[in-house]
Amino acid sequence: MKIICIGRNYAEHAKEMKSDVPTEPVFFLKPETALLKDKDFYYPEFTKDLHHEVEIVLKISKNGKHIAEEFASQYYNEIGIGIDFTARDLQMKCKEKGLPWEKAKAFDSAAPIGDFVPKENFTSLKNISFQLNINGNQRQVGNTKDLIFSFEKIISYVSQFITLKTGDLIFTGTPEGVSAVNIGDVLEASIENKKMLHLNIK
Ligand code: MG
Repeated sequence: MKIICIGRNYAEHAKEMKSDVPTEPVFFLKPETALLKDKDFYYPEFTKDLHHEVEIVLKISKNGKHIAEEFASQYYNEIGIGIDFTARDLQMKCKEKGLPWEKAKAFDSAAPIGDFVPKENFTSLKNISFQLNINGNQRQVGNTKDLIFSFEKIISYVSQFITLKTGDLIFTGTPEGVSAVNIGDVLEASIENKKMLHLNIK
């Protein structure tokens, strides 16, 4: 399986990163070795500025290529929440030099995920609230109504370039409020106020 991540998909986050709001989706990949589920996260020694990016995650349920936007909703069946961990110091250096971001984004355990639920559980996928608390304090709040590119647009766009396969995950972008995590922090992410992810930073 593979993990596809969408960058700059909330205007306020693009702004806080001093990036332009994109006119077409920006995406990058994380390998399977980046997945982390029900385990502690160990702060990597190659960064001094590890940032959390809480994101709604789609689970692909059907293989597809060149998927039309109007049929894209048939290609995912579950929704969850994850953290797109980013070594911001490394990413900044890569950006300055115009180099790829993998070092900063695709390292081992850089994609913790929580539980998934069927998408039918939601009355509207275009109005899902989600949140990240750290040590009990609210750090990021988002709502899918603020997505620049919808779930369907993302699936359609990415599948023009890369075949989607059952079990692939798509991280759909983070809202504003990204900041540093530290050893000892406890991260809790929720969807519609239901806790879906618990993560200890060691
Ligand atoms: Mg992200």
